[in-house]
Amino acid sequence: MSLVPLEDAQRRVLAQCQPLRPLAVPLAESLGCVTSVALTAEEDVPPWANSAVDGFAVRSADVATTPVTLPVTATIRAGAPPEPPVGPGEAVHILTGAPLPAGADAVVMVEDTDAWDGRTGREAVGAAVTTKVEVRRGVAAGANVRPAGDDIRAGQTVFGAGTVLGPGHLGVLASIGVRKVPVFPRARVGVLSTGDELVDGGEPLHPGQIRDSNRRTLLALLAEANCEPVDLGHARDEEAAVRDALTEALGRCDAVLTSGGVSVGDFDFVKVVLDELSGGGFAWMQVAIRPAKPLAFGVVRGTPVFGLPGNPVSSMVSFELFARPALRHMMGHAATGRPQALAVADEPLARRPDGKLHLVRVRARWGADGRVHVRPLGGQMSHHLHAMAEANALALLPDGDGVGGGADVPTVLLSDPDPGFASS
Ligand code: AMP
Ligand code: MG
Repeated sequence: MSLVPLEDAQRRVLAQCQPLRPLAVPLAESLGCVTSVALTAEEDVPPWANSAVDGFAVRSADVATTPVTLPVTATIRAGAPPEPPVGPGEAVHILTGAPLPAGADAVVMVEDTDAWDGRTGREAVGAAVTTKVEVRRGVAAGANVRPAGDDIRAGQTVFGAGTVLGPGHLGVLASIGVRKVPVFPRARVGVLSTGDELVDGGEPLHPGQIRDSNRRTLLALLAEANCEPVDLGHARDEEAAVRDALTEALGRCDAVLTSGGVSVGDFDFVKVVLDELSGGGFAWMQVAIRPAKPLAFGVVRGTPVFGLPGNPVSSMVSFELFARPALRHMMGHAATGRPQALAVADEPLARRPDGKLHLVRVRARWGADGRVHVRPLGGQMSHHLHAMAEANALALLPDGDGVGGGADVPTVLLSDPDPGFASS
C-alpha cells in the first residue's frame, strides 16, 4: 500500500466535512465560537454622554479665565439621572461614569480645582457654608466628556461573520444588549476506544491488560478545541461490538473519533465497519508521516468518523493533523491549523530517510533573540505518551537526515512556548 502525502490526506478528509448549521446560542455560552453572520449594534455605547473623570461639570465658557470660583449646586453619581442642569456660572460635582447634565459641555478634573469644601449644594442647604469650587485651569468644550456612541454607534457592524469570539467580544456584545449570538455551534464529538486489552479506571490489571488512556486524552483535546466531548466508552475487538457502538453514536454526535483497530492486524475491525457503514466515502490510508501512519476516515449518514490509530502518541498526533482541522472547519473557523513558527533547533534533530515526514516531540521556548527555540524530548516512539504530554510543539522534519544544532526547523505550536527573555 503506497504512502499518501500528509497534505493529500488532510485535503481528502477536510473536503468531506461541512460546516455545522448556525444556531443562536446564549451569549454566556458563545466563548470561542465563530459568528455566522455580521453583528450590528442597535444601541450607542456609551448610551449617553458621561464624565471620564471625577470633577465638576461646567460650561467651558465660564472657565475661560482662571482662577474662577463657581457655586456647586449638586452631585451626580454614576447611575443617577443627569440632573440638575448646569446654569450659567454654575458647576455640578460629577463622578466618573455619571451622565453629563444639560447645560454643561465639559468637565474640570478635581485635580485642577481648589477650595471645594467637599459638599454639594443640596447637602449644604441650611448649613452655614458656601458650597463653591475654585477652578484653577480652564477646559475646552468636550474635555473629559465621553460622548454618546464614542465606542460603538447604533447601526454599526460590530463584528463581521467569521469572528472568533473571545472575552472582549463577549463584553462588547453584552455592552450592546445582545443575549443570543448567531454562531456555528460547538461540534458534539463522540470518543470510542476499541481494544480487548483496555481497562477503564483503577481496577487491577490482569495479564495482557492496559488502562485506556486515549479516551481521556481525546476527550480533553476536544474540550480544548471548544467542541462538546461525548464519552462513548469502549468497545471490544468484535465487528458487531464496534458496529453497534458506532451506529448508536451517530444519532447523537456531529462527528466521532475512534481509537485503535485501524492497523493491518486481524482484529482491527474499525476500518472494516467504517468501510461497510460509509458506503463509498471511506478511506483507509497509510499517511507518509511518523508517528500516526494509519488513518481510517469515513462519512456515515452525514457524520464524519475518524478512525485514529491506537498508539497513544499516534492518536494525539492524528487528532492534531486530521480531526482538529476538520472539526474547526465544521465550527466555522477559517484558520483550521495550529500556529506554526520557523524555530531554532537548539540541539541536532537527527533522523533517517524513510519516505515520511517526522513529527518530533519538542519543548519550545521563547529565546532572547525573540525567536522560538526547540529541543527534542526523550521518548520519540508512538507509545511514549509521557514525552508527548511534556511536548508543547512538534518539529517537522521532512524526509532526509534531519537538521543540525542551530538550524531553522518548521514547528507546529501545540500551546504557548515557554516564556523566556524576549516575552517577559
Ligand atoms: P491498535 O491500533 O488497536 O493496533 O493499537 C495499537 C497500540 O495502541 C496497542 O499497543 C494498543 O494496546 C494501544 N492502544 C489502543 N487503544 C488504546 C487506548 N485507548 N489507550 C491506550 N493504549 C491503547
Ligand atoms: Mg487494537
